[in-house]
Amino acid sequence: ATPISITTAAGRGAQAGVLIKDAEALERMARVDTVIVDKTGTLTLGKPELTNAVSLSNLTSDDVLTFAAALELGSEHPLAEAIVEGARERGLTLPKALNFEAVTGKGVKGSVEGQQVALGNTAMMELLSIDTSKVEADMNTLRSEGKTAMFVALEGELAGVVAVTDPIKPTTSDAIRDLHSLGLRIIMATGDNLRTAQAVAKDLGIDEVRADVLPEDKKALVDELRATGHKVAMAGDGVNDAPALASADVGIAMGTGADVAVESAGITLLGGDLVGIVRARKLAKATLRNIK
Ligand code: ADP
Ligand code: MG
Repeated sequence: ATPISITTAAGRGAQAGVLIKDAEALERMARVDTVIVDKTGTLTLGKPELTNAVSLSNLTSDDVLTFAAALELGSEHPLAEAIVEGARERGLTLPKALNFEAVTGKGVKGSVEGQQVALGNTAMMELLSIDTSKVEADMNTLRSEGKTAMFVALEGELAGVVAVTDPIKPTTSDAIRDLHSLGLRIIMATGDNLRTAQAVAKDLGIDEVRADVLPEDKKALVDELRATGHKVAMAGDGVNDAPALASADVGIAMGTGADVAVESAGITLLGGDLVGIVRARKLAKATLRNIK
């Protein structure tokens, strides 16, 4: 390709929905060797749908879903929307939850109809000293299908399981192939379970998976790679991703995501899919040839 100026690159980028903050962001993008991508909302649509509601007690599966969804009315997490929407589709009436509390990266808890309800991952159950070993095998089956499976606890006892699936964006697979051919290593970082993450990564040819990652761990991963001489781009959409975006050589925000993510980024992708990273990389390389 012919070398192009920064102004031309910025203009071409903008036309394609790739907003480049400044010359520095573009220059750094040309030197990146590793791209870390968040799973939910970046590789996937970020619009999970309820697939399973199972009772492990004398409740019906609808009761389990009602308790879970009542609690999730208080949460803005994409998982919460999927559970509430799934309950509404089944025609369930949701009572109000009291004392709602969200535990970042783990789940939610509160009281519904006078009962203590908790919903979340293994770490959430560990927090409440609830033993999950007898259902881990079934959970693993759901996870290996790429689903996010969550425990529902009632009064400190395991009461059921709900699972959701978040479809992969139609453009993700080709974009990852293109990023590979541009010489980049792709690492998935997600707060989701390792099995779920691996099931999603396998079909996409992702090079490395970091799962069960808390928001502060995403930043630590960026710092660790940079400390070992790598040039890192981090792509994400959530409030959770903002610290990692700010620490990366290039922060790439999905324009469909949280404002704070956009503010922390050197590049914003209006289209909200990985094709924008391919475009940004090509523009960056074409520009750098001109600067040098
Ligand atoms: P991600 O990196 O995929 O956005 P989070 O860090 O937000 O993940 O959450 C990690 C895990 O914690 C989720 O996969 C889920 O098991 C649990 N969790 C977080 N928030 C909720 C919630 N509102 N309801 C149920 N589970 C939750
Ligand atoms: Mg996310």
